[in-house]
Amino acid sequence: MTTTKIDRRNFLKVLGLGGAGAALAGCDMPSYATLEEGEEQVFSYLAPEEYVIPGIGVWYASTCLQCPAGCGVHGRVREGRALKLEGNPKTKLNAGKLCQMGQAALQTHYNPDRITKPRVNGKDATWPEALAAINEKGGGNIVWLTGAISGHQRVLLDIHLKATGGGKHYAVETVNTKAWEAASADIIGDAHPNLHIDKARAVLSFNADFLGTWMSPVKFMTDYGRFRAAPRGVLTVVEPAMSLSGANADHWVAARPGSETAVALGVAHVLASKYGVTTTGLSVSTTDTIATMDASRVAALSGVDGATLSKIARTLVANSPSLVIADGHYDTAAAAQVLNLMLGNLGSTLTPSADLGAPHLTNIGGTTQALTAFAEDANAGAIDIAFITGVNPMFTAPYGLNMMDALDKIGTKVAITMFEDETTTACDVVLPLASPLEDWGTHVPAFGAGAGQIHIQQPLMEKLHADALGFGDILLGLAQDGGADGLDDFEDYYGYLRTAISALIGSDQEAAWNAVLQAGQTTAPTLERAFTINGDVTINVADTTAHGLTLVTTARQGLYDGRHANLPWLQEAPDQISKAVWDSWAEIHPKTATKIGVKDGDYVSIQSKGGSITTRVFIYKGVHPGTIAVPMGRGHSHYGRYATDVGVNPLNILDVDIDPRTGEINTDTTPVKVKATGDNRYLVRLMDTDKQYGRKLAATIPASQFHRTEGGA
Ligand code: SF4
Repeated sequence: MTTTKIDRRNFLKVLGLGGAGAALAGCDMPSYATLEEGEEQVFSYLAPEEYVIPGIGVWYASTCLQCPAGCGVHGRVREGRALKLEGNPKTKLNAGKLCQMGQAALQTHYNPDRITKPRVNGKDATWPEALAAINEKGGGNIVWLTGAISGHQRVLLDIHLKATGGGKHYAVETVNTKAWEAASADIIGDAHPNLHIDKARAVLSFNADFLGTWMSPVKFMTDYGRFRAAPRGVLTVVEPAMSLSGANADHWVAARPGSETAVALGVAHVLASKYGVTTTGLSVSTTDTIATMDASRVAALSGVDGATLSKIARTLVANSPSLVIADGHYDTAAAAQVLNLMLGNLGSTLTPSADLGAPHLTNIGGTTQALTAFAEDANAGAIDIAFITGVNPMFTAPYGLNMMDALDKIGTKVAITMFEDETTTACDVVLPLASPLEDWGTHVPAFGAGAGQIHIQQPLMEKLHADALGFGDILLGLAQDGGADGLDDFEDYYGYLRTAISALIGSDQEAAWNAVLQAGQTTAPTLERAFTINGDVTINVADTTAHGLTLVTTARQGLYDGRHANLPWLQEAPDQISKAVWDSWAEIHPKTATKIGVKDGDYVSIQSKGGSITTRVFIYKGVHPGTIAVPMGRGHSHYGRYATDVGVNPLNILDVDIDPRTGEINTDTTPVKVKATGDNRYLVRLMDTDKQYGRKLAATIPASQFHRTEGGA
């Protein structure tokens, strides 16, 4: 049980001296208006710094925090304002590329709905008043709810929690790769093996939208480009609702939601029985499980027929090396790794990752298991103060977690955030957070950055709002207040970070520091590792045939888990599948639509055990007939002028159905009833028709000559 209260002295010190002034000196940006010992100095551009040419932009390296992948960015700064972001060409992870979410970081930064002042019980307050409010009920068990976190922010958070008695840290991400990580750790002894899509000649993916939101999509897009260069690799995607990766596949297979494990084992069965692919290394029980997955059983469970299984197996055998990836359920990911073992992909398209020699900096990937644990602890009355940052549990939690009740049982809820959202409305104190483009940090990408790579986040410009504090500064203030050793000398997070990086690179010289900032990255020592194979894995095959219509909540590159719904660029960007903008929809297969009696644009109510949402129908062949797919991201009730009351949120009506192997909340197992409401309204789509009306805009062949989709779709 923790007892330490927050010492306002340190926070005020950080507020007065931290961040901007030191930051801008640190990254050699023009300091026309700086804060030094409380004194503001304003210079005219008539006498700019000698390296500043008005009208000419200067690029600075930093890190993108729009999703947990942690790509490197270059930001163009002109007259002290960040104007454009691009990928940092020097990083191995994203090699000069940036996705649309990364590009939209500017709208996060300049968003007119940013919180500019602390708030206490919904009213504007000063920092001293906010800290006093936290201390009022003060003491007790302090916990943190964050998204994925790594680098020196993680170090300070650990130090702060240890110093204040060891409260828990729940790292939450709705879109995560936990199933893949857990199965990979169990079967090949490596949760984050390097994946070489570019070296594969065939890729088979089950529910892993690697071009959209899975793991590190910008890296995978680049690798995918090489994969498609001659000799062109063959992509097969198996999933209940077409993703961006599925839309790019040569062969897209619709499987009943939750039945992908059966399909993967069915492919293994064909490999073993028809192509004599050895199952050496697999235990007898695993081999026996594969032996039971003949074509008729797989077809009954998944709707995927034997011819399709044979085609997939043939593709894998004919195009070696291959790579099989999967996510969603532990068993599916385990079956995928069994396929990799059978196909001999280890060592070619899957290679061991390296351990970071500085384990305290490694990435704590978020999970939904952590969200469940947080709700349980809160409901049990075990949390006195909760700091919440980088997550919006009131928006993402399924109804069964009773998040509102859970938050009600916490003594003091403190949101540290840039925006008001559903969660801040339930918090007692809201503290304004600096934007990632105004802040310092280090980030260790969980995947794909190269051995030991640490990405540096440096401010691109002065803070827009004087009262917003950097995340590292807040953590440093808390750690100092907790009496943590060795931190008293640091006046701000910049000072701490610079000292820590100097220790890491073995030099405290100005030139060495500037070289790190210019590169936007540095390297920590690593420890080699090798795969340790465990072929004795229990794979359970679910029977979801009795589920009827099943809700599948899909993540899209754009609004993601809903965090980007307040960015007009991303609301306006057409959805990769439906091409819809500024609204939600439900994807329904034509056969299912006929059964229900609905047509495009009809409103339907989608009812689960825990609630209902009403949205319009988008009839689409890219879903399994047993699926009703609703993209996550919209449906906010309180998230600024661009997101509030736009669309519906399918996450809140999900059942809390837990994968027993990972503790993760399944997003594709909630049975729903669908009923037409009688309303019909036009769904605004930027591509309203897929017909060319004779204009020959794109070369096509009749579908009858090219059976790309199978499995009932
Ligand atoms: S994948 Fe996109 S949003 Fe995520 S870190 Fe990279 S550029 Fe940013």
